[in-house]
Amino acid sequence: MSYIPDFHKIKYFTEKFKEYYQNNYISCILDVSKREFGIGTIQSKISQRHLSFVSLEDFNNYLRITPPFYVSYSTSYFKYPDRRPMDNKIWEGSDIVYEFDSDDYDLPCHDRHNTWQCTSEECNEWGYGNLTECPKCFSKTKITEWTCDECLGKAKEDTLRLVDFLEKEFKLNPASFIISFSGAKGYHVRITDRTIISLSKPARLQMMNYILANDLELEKLGFIKQKKLWKIPPIKEAAGWSKKILHGIIDIFSYDEKKLINLFGLSPKKAKLLKDTKEDILNKMYHNNILVADFSSSDKFFEDVINHVINKTRLKIDPQSSSDIFKIMRVPDTIHGGTGFLSTYIKTKEDLINFDPFKDPVVLGTMDLKKIKLLKPTPKFRIIDQYYGPYNKDEVLKLPEKVSMFLVLKGVANFE
Ligand SMILES: [Zn+2]
Ligand SMILES: [Zn+2]
Repeated sequence: MSYIPDFHKIKYFTEKFKEYYQNNYISCILDVSKREFGIGTIQSKISQRHLSFVSLEDFNNYLRITPPFYVSYSTSYFKYPDRRPMDNKIWEGSDIVYEFDSDDYDLPCHDRHNTWQCTSEECNEWGYGNLTECPKCFSKTKITEWTCDECLGKAKEDTLRLVDFLEKEFKLNPASFIISFSGAKGYHVRITDRTIISLSKPARLQMMNYILANDLELEKLGFIKQKKLWKIPPIKEAAGWSKKILHGIIDIFSYDEKKLINLFGLSPKKAKLLKDTKEDILNKMYHNNILVADFSSSDKFFEDVINHVINKTRLKIDPQSSSDIFKIMRVPDTIHGGTGFLSTYIKTKEDLINFDPFKDPVVLGTMDLKKIKLLKPTPKFRIIDQYYGPYNKDEVLKLPEKVSMFLVLKGVANFE
């Protein structure tokens, strides 16, 4: 067995990255000279920060000569981006950023494609799923996260919802949105609209709280619980969260009886009645601005419905992370060193809808076969139009270079 040491591996990838950057120009960074940059090595995503470049040309030259495994840049604009500590940089404003990662969703696919491996050398037990303790020897396990069309699809769906939210409710210019695939687990949105970049941190948090529907006051939105019914805002005039909630309420009439029973604990009789009297309820909503059904405690039922609608509609984003002005994030159109995929800049909403995260970002390597040995078990995965795996640990395979590179960078295989 010929084990290729890290030194050769790094050299091999560096050559590949160089070739990519020599043929592609990265131009989507706004105000490049005011940004702080960070770079990473094969071992660490951020190994160095406080770098700066005077121009896009300067930045691109750097990538062509000494391409790092990861490149990130600040969400903020600074007068002196390379100075430290942070206070000496002199803050001039920040983009607002959002991240949607596939592993933030609690989905059954994670149990199908994530793998765990016992950390005890003698044991080496492994399996699919997210077990944190080995069932055989009770040692800690190491989990390797994978993605699939389902969880990345969910991240894409929320990204689209956010873009919609920002465009329609905050009237932000969509041309100022920089949407990108992270290169691995999800999507990033960066808002560079001039009207928001000088917002203070509290103002940013307030904006986040609105999107997240934190501290929503139903009364202020026009939803007032009275004796047996809810007073609601006029449907035709409602905007913002009032409108979202009203539309969400109307939407539950499309749920079948079984779903109504499961979600809201309705009795089968009430669920049927609700469906049968749909027209009457809607009529009262539209013409009398009240929400009431023809069964006892319908006010309690509609309270559950309103909460359900809010929970379903709110976006799950980390507000601290979005308003962190010292954050650095992957530069779109650079290579993600943990996959070899392009952290693709996605120019429009339509492009995002059509974006295929297992095809469009695959820019490195050829279809020539390259031999690898698996270090970890690997679930079934897709690259471009073909599925590969599942593979066992220690399996030796010849796969297209594109696929072998991905597995080696992901840390689940080594070149042989
Ligand atoms: Zn074990
Ligand atoms: Zn998945």
